Amino acid sequence: MNPIAIENAHTSGVYAKRNLVIVRGKGALVWDEQGREYVDCAAGHGVANLGHSHPKVVAALREQAEKIITCPEMFYNPARAALLEKLTAFAPDGMERVFLSNSGTEAVEAAFKFARYSTGRTEIIAAMRGFHGRTMGALSATWNKKYRQPFQPLIPDVHHVPYNKLERLDAAVSEKTAAVILEVVQGEGGVNPGTAEYLRGAQEICRQRGALFILDEVQTGFGRTGRMFALEHHDLQPDILCVAKSLGGGVPIGATLLGERVRELHPGLHGSTFGGNPLSAAAGVAALDALVEEDLPRRAAEMGAYLMGELHRLESPLIREVRGLGLMIGIELKQKVAPYLAALQEHGVLALNAGMNVIRLLPPLVITREHVDRVVQALEETLRNAE
Ligand SMILES: *Cc1c(COP(=O)(O)O)cnc(C)c1O
Repeated sequence: MNPIAIENAHTSGVYAKRNLVIVRGKGALVWDEQGREYVDCAAGHGVANLGHSHPKVVAALREQAEKIITCPEMFYNPARAALLEKLTAFAPDGMERVFLSNSGTEAVEAAFKFARYSTGRTEIIAAMRGFHGRTMGALSATWNKKYRQPFQPLIPDVHHVPYNKLERLDAAVSEKTAAVILEVVQGEGGVNPGTAEYLRGAQEICRQRGALFILDEVQTGFGRTGRMFALEHHDLQPDILCVAKSLGGGVPIGATLLGERVRELHPGLHGSTFGGNPLSAAAGVAALDALVEEDLPRRAAEMGAYLMGELHRLESPLIREVRGLGLMIGIELKQKVAPYLAALQEHGVLALNAGMNVIRLLPPLVITREHVDRVVQALEETLRNAE
């Protein structure tokens, strides 16, 4: 069997594929068909916060699969109930209601529908360089023209303003605005941390003008930035919180958490066939338990500080800036990063881009110091060879 040939023959074509077949993963490591080992700083685009095939998640999936895999939300189910209870316990006060789905983009779609329904308004304000997903509604709020242009017209009344510029947001939000949606740290857009002043100011503007404040923590959630949710860094209280990626310990799941300013919802308003399925829910419960038991948000803060310190020591003239929060780190180069990502792979490190010029590192939060050192060394060699 040749997976590369078969996938190339049948893939839709929408993904830029790398020439690597991954067959197995454990913790922060993955292996290819020949048994070659890689430190995985792509971590499924930030899905594998717990590391690959975490034993707690594996056990929960096995146990739940033997009980029941599917159970629509019209019936009650203990795995789903346990997830709802745990997830809301970590959320800001007053976020007691949750809509469960299967992905980040769905979490954002639900947020937009509920915001429009709650406010009776249509307009959404998003940020330049923001990324919120690729279905038609969420895509309307995603900034990158390359993703949006071929599909226009998208949903109307969505506008983009510069990130971290409060006066521009202030000028854009009016009595027509249903919601403002922001990331706490922009991920796809280049690993840009929002300032406390900007994010708290945006929240205040929303409150004053009757708009809902939506935080998209699909990438920043569940320990990634050194706190359970990145909003904790700035003491934010969003009206809607979108999460997904690592919530299920690797399996597909999304969730839209609703605060008190979201109106009461009624049956038929929204729904999802797979949303709230017991298999994903059981994985989510196990993942949240493991995050807490292993104190992974704190570990992300410590390892992130260590990695950031090591990266700041690299004195390559190719580096423009190193920035990030916790284990969400961007290395902005003065040139395109694609060849460097390929070279890193040759050195046994998988990394992501964020735009054209930023190498993005999203290692599993369980990464060891030894593996961090391996990443830094690979980067050092890769950059040195290119100088
Ligand atoms: C990945 C991501 C999404 C989209 O998630 P999908 O599961 O790919 O639909 C939305 N928002 C942010 C911030 C993301 O990083």
